[in-house]
Amino acid sequence: MTITPLMPVYPRCEVRPVRGEGVYLYGENGEQYLDFASGIAVNLLGHGHPHLTKAIQNQAAQLMHVSNLYGSPQGERLAQRLVDLTFADTVFFTNSGAEAVECAIKTARRYHHAKGQPHKHDLITFSNAFHGRTMATISATNQEKLRDGFAPLLPGFKVVEFDNLDAALAAVDDHTAGFLIEPVQGEGGIRPASKEFIQGLRKACDDNDLMLVFDEVQCGMARTGTLFAYEQYGVEPDILASAKGIGGGFPLGACLATEKAAQGMVIGTHGSTYGGNPLAMAAGEAVLDVVANDEFLAHVRQMGDRLRAALEQMIPNHDGLFDSVRGMGLMLGIKMKTDSRAFVNWLRGQGLLAVAAGDNVMRVLPPLVIDDNHIREFVDRLSQAAAVYEVPAEAL
Ligand SMILES: *Cc1c(COP(=O)(O)O)cnc(C)c1O
Repeated sequence: MTITPLMPVYPRCEVRPVRGEGVYLYGENGEQYLDFASGIAVNLLGHGHPHLTKAIQNQAAQLMHVSNLYGSPQGERLAQRLVDLTFADTVFFTNSGAEAVECAIKTARRYHHAKGQPHKHDLITFSNAFHGRTMATISATNQEKLRDGFAPLLPGFKVVEFDNLDAALAAVDDHTAGFLIEPVQGEGGIRPASKEFIQGLRKACDDNDLMLVFDEVQCGMARTGTLFAYEQYGVEPDILASAKGIGGGFPLGACLATEKAAQGMVIGTHGSTYGGNPLAMAAGEAVLDVVANDEFLAHVRQMGDRLRAALEQMIPNHDGLFDSVRGMGLMLGIKMKTDSRAFVNWLRGQGLLAVAAGDNVMRVLPPLVIDDNHIREFVDRLSQAAAVYEVPAEAL
């Protein structure tokens, strides 16, 4: 037997965390890491945040799970808060991002079905998108590495170039249900869509009665400095998928929709055994308690500006390695002139955690609770590491 007990689908590295404290992780032998990866934009309160930890502990002792066949005071509370804070009128809770996107896809198709137009089932999606690893969500991207070997994929998706409004509009036909887009692409390389593009999609949806579906699994939940990224584009979606940061590390996702968009989602059309269980709701509420206020969001924007400025100041000292910084708030990416994956791997050995992404970008996704000292430490150590980095032969 050579296969590992953990199905070997991840290139697991030598970092083996067993404990976390704030912005730091600790390995099996006590090694310390500065965590500017946050479980890939998940641990937005860092590790071991007392309010989140206590909320989970208390709820676990009170009531962990019951069936969705019963009334849910816990779910009603969190859904009401999300409704009050966003464009949405209704929420379906899931356990992951891909499931939140699946619910969004089903909601969009079901909208047209409910309106007597079941032939409107195609979603237009965008190059280098990442929507998850389920069959529908890999069918919704053109990234070959996600799809290879999993044919037949699901029909009903049409991929066009990201941030190209003409291409998106030209792809609309009588079968189009709407657009599915990350306003800021994450895995694809921290690429914010332009305002004109997003507003153009909104207008096309208004003109043709189509659904605008945002995948804010990575860019949502305060990451960009507003509770959701769409607030910075001056438009509202019809449907939005959230996950990652929404549970602060507890597995939780949500599909938010307007009443109009959700008109087809009636009794019996969708479900989840775990989705929205009381333990997950307690985690979601604890995260909102901390992040959903002006003071915290202003902190995220300020830290984002300072981290970005510090990175931009550092780049000219290593201009053989780094090209530029992009992103919004604390969802930042450093475009590299060499293989970002090799560099991120090497940084781990230096005690610094970041995440590689497409287009040779290194993602910098710190917990949102960082302060100036963490920024200084990260940039100083990154600069020191960059100074002695030797590009490995296979990355040239
Ligand atoms: C991570 C991610 C997903 C998938 O989330 P999972 O919880 O891994 O299923 C979907 N969309 C975007 C934009 C993501 O970043």
